[in-house]
Amino acid sequence: MKFTYEAYKALLALLKKGGYAFRNYHNYGDTSRCVILRHDIDFSLESAVRLAEAERKAGVSSTYFVLLRTDFYNPASRRGTAALRRIQSLGHEIGLHFDERAYLPELLPDQLARAVIEESGILSALLGTPVSTVSMHRPSRSTLEGELLIPGIVNSYGKIFFRDFKYLSDSRRSWQEPVEDIVRSGEYERLHILTHAFWYHEKDEDISRTAGDFIRSANRERYRRMAENITDIESIFPKSEVFK
Ligand SMILES: [Zn+2]
Repeated sequence: MKFTYEAYKALLALLKKGGYAFRNYHNYGDTSRCVILRHDIDFSLESAVRLAEAERKAGVSSTYFVLLRTDFYNPASRRGTAALRRIQSLGHEIGLHFDERAYLPELLPDQLARAVIEESGILSALLGTPVSTVSMHRPSRSTLEGELLIPGIVNSYGKIFFRDFKYLSDSRRSWQEPVEDIVRSGEYERLHILTHAFWYHEKDEDISRTAGDFIRSANRERYRRMAENITDIESIFPKSEVFK
């Protein structure tokens, strides 16, 4: 499968054709044949917004999981919060993407549950809406193997979402299994599909191009933000050095 919006929309069409109802982590019990679409936002809120728009056009809603403790974006900034509200306004849910490795020393299971509740509360306060789902970013072996129960929050790593659902993921921009063939086969009643919006574009591009463009764009982004916070940035550092 190509990593384009077109190919992603074709996958959604295949799911519809296969009779899969689009459900979320709360209402999947409504119907036996369904798919839960999950998106982890590891690098860019902007690319998440673009995929959320593509899904809206396809009449589909999903869950976008947002990191609180990341150096790549800021859900509390004006732009960051606006991006998340935009995703919500398109009919999608915002969940917490939790990075347990952001904590030192390592969290024990009950501390982990408490930290998830705390971070969900912060995200919820930023958005003014409840946050009641979590997915794990770079989960530890004990998180993967255990069953972390968090009061009031659905853990997308709960055993049910792997045992009762066929789980498919495009981690590291590579489908571990042929997702389209599996959907087309109709073999599984319940599907749980993880995609990372960051890898998807209008045109197909390779992984190094996607990563490289993102890395190179950081200077321009930094320059724009400095220009907002310091008068006459151009007299200090020429714009032409950054926008080549
Ligand atoms: Zn992640």
